[in-house]
Amino acid sequence: MKWTNTLISTQRDDPQEAEIPSHRLMLRAGLMRKLASGLYTWLPLGLKVLRKVETIVREEMDRAGALEILMPILQPRELWEKSGRWEAMGPIMLRSQTHGGRELALGPTHEEVVTDLVAREISSYRQLPVNLYQINTKFRDEIRPRFGVMRSREFIMKDGYSFDLDEAGADRSYRLMYQAYERIFRRCGLEAMAVEADTGVMGGKESHEFMVPAETGEDAIAVCPACGYAANVEQAAIGAGSSAPERTAEKLEEVATPGLRTVEELSGFFSAPPSRFIKTLIYLAGGKPAAVLIRGDREVNESKLARRLGAAAVLADGETIRAVTGAPLGFAGPVGLTGVEVLADYSVAAVADGITGGNREDLHLRHVNIDRDCPIPEYLDLAIAAAGDRCPSCSGNLAIRRGIEVGHVFKLGTKYSRSLGAVFNDERGEEQPAIMGCYGIGVSRTVAAIIEQHHDEKGIIWPAAVAPYQVLLLALAPDRPEVAAAAEDLTVRLSGRGLDLLYDDRSASAGVKFNDADLIGIPVRLTVGKKFLQTGLVEVKARNSDELHAVPPEEVPDLVERLLGQA
Ligand code: ATP
Ligand code: MG
Repeated sequence: MKWTNTLISTQRDDPQEAEIPSHRLMLRAGLMRKLASGLYTWLPLGLKVLRKVETIVREEMDRAGALEILMPILQPRELWEKSGRWEAMGPIMLRSQTHGGRELALGPTHEEVVTDLVAREISSYRQLPVNLYQINTKFRDEIRPRFGVMRSREFIMKDGYSFDLDEAGADRSYRLMYQAYERIFRRCGLEAMAVEADTGVMGGKESHEFMVPAETGEDAIAVCPACGYAANVEQAAIGAGSSAPERTAEKLEEVATPGLRTVEELSGFFSAPPSRFIKTLIYLAGGKPAAVLIRGDREVNESKLARRLGAAAVLADGETIRAVTGAPLGFAGPVGLTGVEVLADYSVAAVADGITGGNREDLHLRHVNIDRDCPIPEYLDLAIAAAGDRCPSCSGNLAIRRGIEVGHVFKLGTKYSRSLGAVFNDERGEEQPAIMGCYGIGVSRTVAAIIEQHHDEKGIIWPAAVAPYQVLLLALAPDRPEVAAAAEDLTVRLSGRGLDLLYDDRSASAGVKFNDADLIGIPVRLTVGKKFLQTGLVEVKARNSDELHAVPPEEVPDLVERLLGQA
């Protein structure tokens, strides 16, 4: 392909709106253009990459035995009513109406549609298992679309759904998809890691997210360098601390704290770090209040709390807080608190000489010795994991890393098969719901993640498997007939090997061409110009190395293939 015949418009300067490297480089290299917030057009160069990622995804899904289908993006309200998600999805789901007044959702995901399909197509155990997938557009009205296609309103997802006869089958499907995902990301040149993920309160049994480690990632991952444990911090368990400190012998003391409510305000007032405070938070779960104690410098993980309480937990309103503690918001404490379930996080056990609310307006207590003043029978894991916490599966300490979620596998159980009627007759003729799994890959996000992991200050460094072209041929002085002839000769030689070549035939300066070459990041660059006219040698350079090779044209294809093998 000649550069002058395609549409590649590069930009020298960083676009203002782009905060992270992949977003900046996708705009500068002319891979995509913004239409409106969270909406992007893929230009020819970017679309080639997107298609290559799609092809890898498709090949690996097919290899794992999944079957490709294509479902509508518009989905009738009635289906979402059946699963109970028309309400539950909230504002992230875009909704629309036909002129006849039928309400529709623009699919943020396709569990409802695929389960309805399977409910109609499957009746006997002989037809299972089945695993269906599509590569299609999704719509999510994200509150904060950002980072380009990393978090957009409209994006390409591969979503797959497995239906099995029993748990053992569902486990097998899950494992197959997990392994397919490992291969997909490896083939895309990504170093991705599977981490345990939150399954939600009502959710399935098991879930893993595939994370690409990156400083700019929106997710935090807890990892244990000692044993390899890895989990999203939303999910990460924490091990119990080893020993309790020696606690204060000083007398419990009341301190007037007029209008001081937050740990921050109180920390200044008492000249004590937040880790000396025992925060007491009143939650409501299933209509019942519960008091959660956690150290002042830690945050409650509401998923853990919900699992512990068996229902989603939300922070209580002022009226409930007053009814439970006798005081307005900001003055709750564990000493003398009765008539409510008290749950204490592990972190509280480490407070030797504590400060807490006094369950009276404008009052706090200091020199709280929990063992003496409000004994806790059992400490629990209720906090969001933080660096230095004990690993839940060994005696190591957790570290916190950032990552980009590129894929997600999830054991769904029977929630959707029951509500949408995906049942089959088993061998004894009894009706059973299919056991489901769902598996997503953010295809467009994967392209951005590849760039996050493969770039330098000059531009993108594409791994060969997903590069828009494998070879970039720069003709310096393309109007010289010998140069044009050499370019033509190299094009023929390389296309003979099935290599995809972009020929920069512009009459731009050498500087512009070299800069653009580094920016768009094609794995191998060939240069024919003045030096070629003098020596007959072609300059060959890999984007991921500084080494320059000078070889005669007939040796170029072998060298290119060797360099591509290392890209
Ligand atoms: P996130 O936590 O990042 O919002 P999610 O957990 O809601 O994502 P899933 O429902 O698991 O997303 O969707 C499957 C995959 O789709 C994700 O792993 C991610 O790669 C991709 N994805 C989700 N939302 C977006 C988005 N707004 N823009 C681009 N890709 C997305
Ligand atoms: Mg997810």
